[in-house]
Amino acid sequence: MLLKVRNLKKYFPIKQGFLIDRTVGYIKAVDGIDLNLDINETYGLVGESGCGKTTIGKTILRLEDPTSGKIFLNGEETSHYFMSKRAGAKYLEKEYIEYAHELEEELESKEKVLENLEDEERKYIQYYYDNGKEKFFDYMFKDIDRKRADFRRNVQIVFQDPTSSLNPRMTVGQTLIEPLLFHKMAKNKIEAKNIALDMLKKVGLKPYHADRYPHQFSGGQRQRVAVARAIILDPKLIILDEPTSALDVSVQAQIINLLKSLQSEFNVGYLFISHDLGVVRFISNHVGVMYLGRLVEYGDGSEIFDRTLHPYSQALLNAAPLPDPRKRRDRKKFLVKGQVPSPVNRPKGCFFNPRCPYAMDICKKDYPDYYKINENHYVACFLYKENKDRGLSQEKEGK
Ligand code: SF4
Repeated sequence: MLLKVRNLKKYFPIKQGFLIDRTVGYIKAVDGIDLNLDINETYGLVGESGCGKTTIGKTILRLEDPTSGKIFLNGEETSHYFMSKRAGAKYLEKEYIEYAHELEEELESKEKVLENLEDEERKYIQYYYDNGKEKFFDYMFKDIDRKRADFRRNVQIVFQDPTSSLNPRMTVGQTLIEPLLFHKMAKNKIEAKNIALDMLKKVGLKPYHADRYPHQFSGGQRQRVAVARAIILDPKLIILDEPTSALDVSVQAQIINLLKSLQSEFNVGYLFISHDLGVVRFISNHVGVMYLGRLVEYGDGSEIFDRTLHPYSQALLNAAPLPDPRKRRDRKKFLVKGQVPSPVNRPKGCFFNPRCPYAMDICKKDYPDYYKINENHYVACFLYKENKDRGLSQEKEGK
């Protein structure tokens, strides 16, 4: 699994007072999100503005520290890459040294402990046995520095607005060669320039564009540059945060087609954040619908779009413009009314109950679990309570 997120939470404290800083509450921007994404796949995250989509992206990328929860990249938990040395030492002690001692008690010999470990763990514990705790920590900290740099290379982002995400003082060529040299992916400047020119070609730009500055490009061309900058490092995961929202419809289609072709060429996974359901439908293998910090429905793209079950997802879909207006008449679903409630003061029970035409008494008291519709489709709504199987958040694995 390329990306596995378990029970991810991000709460922003609300501070009050100038002289004495007090926390008077929390904005629960992300509140217990689980998601899986594999290489070459796209996970579309949809929802209204302010529902927490972008915060998820930033938290996965570690531009924001999560309040709690785990993020695994290629099976490895990533939180300790970003800890302070002190917290890192605590983590390593618990994760490796205490674990080795527990195994020693059980197996009664260090040799047997080493035999029972996976390759990488064995390498670390062997080092601890041979060199003691202090040297073990030094060794691990160096390893963590390397892993953090790898993480920074392997997880990239493309922002909504390429005008503000590209450095206006750097030419496109400089923008592309800088990360290559920083991450030592090119031996020298000449090699970096050749890689950059090749990349410009792959995103549909010409070699002479390398000498131009961002303001000399159109919006679509700037977004091509942003995509080139993200993919030039050969990452495993790219977070695409509304990458087409600032573009004209015809340019949007070009960028989406470009992303699709680059995905198969570079074997990369996309987390595609958008409120544009048409684009999400076209590009995503898996889809999660968010409302006030939680996923209300998730599953395979075809399931979510062809068999939309959660009243909020239905309302979102119904609000999207249809190319064929006659289709609207076939739909029995409703349009969502009223405002999104404040994330500081979310409604009791199901957060959607004040806006939901199907709300029942239980919806005003309890928040629904995820009910399994089938292997590829889960929904958090009491209307589907008879589907008692459990969703990702209730799996034992990874919690
Ligand atoms: Fe509506 Fe109740 Fe389902 Fe919430 S749980 S979406 S209020 S029917």
